[in-house]
Amino acid sequence: MADMKRLAARVKELEDQLVVCIRCGMCQSVCPLFDRTRREADVARGKLALLDGLGKSMFKDPDGVDQRLNRCLLCGSCAANCPSGVNVVEIFIKARAILAEFKGLSPVKKLIFRKMLADPSTFDRLTSLAGKFQGMFTRDEKNAQGTSCSRVVSSLLPPFMKDRHIVPMADHPFHELVPSLNTPAGNSGIRAAFFTGCIIDKVFPRIGRDIVDIFSYHGVGLFIPPGQGCCGIPALASGDMQTFEKLLEYHVTLFDQENFDYLITACATCTSTIKKLWPSIYEGKSMALREKITNLSEKTLDINKFLVDKVKLCDFQGETTDKDLGASSVARGVTYHDPCHLKKSLGVADEPRRVIKAAGKELVEMEGSDKCCGMGGSFNLYHYGLSSGIGSLKQKSIADTGCDTVATGCPACMVQISDMLAKEGLDIKVGHPVEIYAGSLRKRKLI
Ligand code: SF4
Ligand code: SF4
Repeated sequence: MADMKRLAARVKELEDQLVVCIRCGMCQSVCPLFDRTRREADVARGKLALLDGLGKSMFKDPDGVDQRLNRCLLCGSCAANCPSGVNVVEIFIKARAILAEFKGLSPVKKLIFRKMLADPSTFDRLTSLAGKFQGMFTRDEKNAQGTSCSRVVSSLLPPFMKDRHIVPMADHPFHELVPSLNTPAGNSGIRAAFFTGCIIDKVFPRIGRDIVDIFSYHGVGLFIPPGQGCCGIPALASGDMQTFEKLLEYHVTLFDQENFDYLITACATCTSTIKKLWPSIYEGKSMALREKITNLSEKTLDINKFLVDKVKLCDFQGETTDKDLGASSVARGVTYHDPCHLKKSLGVADEPRRVIKAAGKELVEMEGSDKCCGMGGSFNLYHYGLSSGIGSLKQKSIADTGCDTVATGCPACMVQISDMLAKEGLDIKVGHPVEIYAGSLRKRKLI
């Protein structure tokens, strides 16, 4: 049963944040969803107007408000283009939490978030089991470059999984390959901790391995505690504050065991969640814990930013070219997609490009590199048609560059872009900038 007094206070607090919106409509021109639907209800201004009377509309039609609120990628394009500085993503997330508290979470979400995601070891066990049986539901479709993408073929899976090309889960997750690590600072004098994130752990462990090798090469000490889990964003985006706070407290305690200079992640969404949402959304009362959350979020850095700003990567690795590296004639350059959670949320755009250039690769800019790829976490699950429509524009921009590789700093974008490219049968490799950089070090036998 919802605590109505507490809910009323939270609605009031939210309504106070809404007054900043001057209803100018500048968010329309950048909203990927509005671009597809042309519906005012889908753009930030329309949703903020809906929330203006949340106290009343929530009682009248909680499901309707919920549905409208959930038609959003939480990409932050609107916030980045808002002249009044409305913190749209934070407002939408808080509103989802209020609604979830009022309505209660569905039994399925309760099961997924509170029984699975909230407990990293259970989540690991279940995903490992799912990985073993994934071949029963999919058909492998490898393109000429060997990029693996499986097509969902089983009618046993729920309808929202149909027609997808999924990147299969790895045979061995990162936490099996590197269960833990604790090395001292080397030549760089820096010691960093690595927050793995679910998608890198389970789908792209190769990115984690590359980071271990790159850090070792640059003399960066590394702390990887065992037992890591999710940063909490899937639960938070569904309004499940309980799971979000549980995971947050768990990780703050986990990383508190050791001293380090930076907390590094290679997932744009994890970085943005830890840096921005952990301190702003957490409602726990313990001041000591709040202080730890603030400290940890201040120390959190995207891997590309870390390599460029702290390791000074480009200062001494910027001279090599594809030719120097003995690249074959197959190489047709790399194009880069800006993840919304990296560029719009954290202002990180130049650094991943510099990492790619430091690998000696020719960087070819695509049109609209910072336009959303359409993933949006659970948005992709519930609104796959819209998500694919947005993604197909990204796929065209990538294909138009003529590049053989597209890089992006977010593993969730990698999953979406892989699906979009596979749908069109395009032979374009999808990777993370650190993979490209690690590849160049390997070619030169430096790692
Ligand atoms: S959210 Fe910002 S850009 Fe959109 S209508 Fe309000 S003030 Fe204007
Ligand atoms: S977060 Fe993205 S999808 Fe949602 S309203 Fe803003 S621009 Fe549109």
